[in-house]
Amino acid sequence: MGEFQLIEWIRQQLDEDDPDLSLGIGDDAAVLNLPADRELVITTDTLNSEVHFNSETSPPDLGYKALAVSLSDLAAMGARPKWVLLSVSMPAEDRLWFEAFVRGFLELASNIGVTLIGGDTCSGVLSVTVTALGLVRPGQALTRTGARAGDLVVVSGHLGDAALALFEQQGGETRDEICFQALHRPVPRIALGLSLVGKATSCIDISDGLWADLGHIAQQSGCGAIIEVARLPAGSALYEQQESKRWQLQLTGGEDYELCFTIPPQQKSSLQELSTELEIELTVIGKIVAGRGVQCVRPNGQLVELEHRGYKHFEH
Ligand code: ADP
Ligand code: MG
Repeated sequence: MGEFQLIEWIRQQLDEDDPDLSLGIGDDAAVLNLPADRELVITTDTLNSEVHFNSETSPPDLGYKALAVSLSDLAAMGARPKWVLLSVSMPAEDRLWFEAFVRGFLELASNIGVTLIGGDTCSGVLSVTVTALGLVRPGQALTRTGARAGDLVVVSGHLGDAALALFEQQGGETRDEICFQALHRPVPRIALGLSLVGKATSCIDISDGLWADLGHIAQQSGCGAIIEVARLPAGSALYEQQESKRWQLQLTGGEDYELCFTIPPQQKSSLQELSTELEIELTVIGKIVAGRGVQCVRPNGQLVELEHRGYKHFEH
């Protein structure tokens, strides 16, 4: 068994019915048949062992999540995902591990309808990189730069579940199943991203924590934001925590892979309709203001102060 048998095994798992793929896995590179009236949106993300996951992460969960985090970036751009590349570095050839890992990856790929068109398989430290390609109408990609004072700040789903699961895992505590799923099987909000095209003034996916990620929108749009922490959407496991811990997890925990976006206030009524249609909770948590930075306000009007505002590599 070697690299080439592993690649051949992957190829056998794929359905070959993508009319927009001129040449898939097996040559030196893939060839895509791009529609003339679309822009290509490309993103890549790496998950490293002991940084992004550890031995607690099962192979299929790792495969699933490696794809989910890249698709989440396409969702945040309002792109329709089309193709993905999968690069795997692993210390030793472990066929069972590899097949379980790829099955998790392909499970999500088939749910979303993206085609695996290539990648790389090599030996080294355990690390997974997924590159995802999607399409948008020209000039329609959702960016971080369009938020304006007066816009409402909205998030999808619940915040803090994944962070709570990670916290529990690190402390060896009992696990809440919903939080465990949120950490290991985040659902990329593709349909929501597509629906926000032409509606949202800015959008980002929450990977490093709401405070940091909304901070990117604020900074890149040249404005500030005010968040009312009492409005942050949470599930029952989060409500069992003390308020200060709940807010810390929800504001800075990261790994939510929900979308945070801004809409002009006149669009507020369309949120309910969208939420019903997509069966996704959409919560207005604050607004964009003139100024700089993101302020988080308690119900009594006091500002929330936290030790750190989100995950940053190279700062630990
Ligand atoms: P080269 O050495 O020319 O880069 P490789 O042997 O790395 O070729 O890859 C052969 C083919 O298999 C290419 O089409 C590549 O994209 C594909 N491939 C390699 N690894 C993977 C993988 N993990 N998932 C999907 N396709 C892969
Ligand atoms: Mg190669």
